[in-house]
Amino acid sequence: MTMRKKQLPAGIYDTDICVIAGTFDTVSKYLKKHYDHHVDEWVVGRFFEKAPLSNKNPMRRIMFVMTDRCRKSEHHPVLMHEIVHCALSIFEGRGIRYSSKHSEPLAYFIEWLYKESREVLT
Ligand SMILES: [Zn+2]
Repeated sequence: MTMRKKQLPAGIYDTDICVIAGTFDTVSKYLKKHYDHHVDEWVVGRFFEKAPLSNKNPMRRIMFVMTDRCRKSEHHPVLMHEIVHCALSIFEGRGIRYSSKHSEPLAYFIEWLYKESREVLT
């Protein structure tokens, strides 16, 4: 496996989410080419928001996991970490409130993001 990429269905939050997993070389080249996004050697995963160079219009949310930068047993935990950043960014971007007493929508959304994302990891 060098790189796997999935565009998540927009769902009720109507936002472009792209999840990528692969080796540092392939993923960092892809991000440089399509987003002009630089990744340092030590980075294992990240979430960021940016419009693709090819189409400046839609702001996209991108998560990635560098599968050769950590052990295989860390791949899913790193993905979960990035999913939390992504989910909070979407909720804040849409002005959706959440708190310890009102956490079910966020918890369900994180669950959905993980179900949709995990297939990029083998
Ligand atoms: Zn983080």
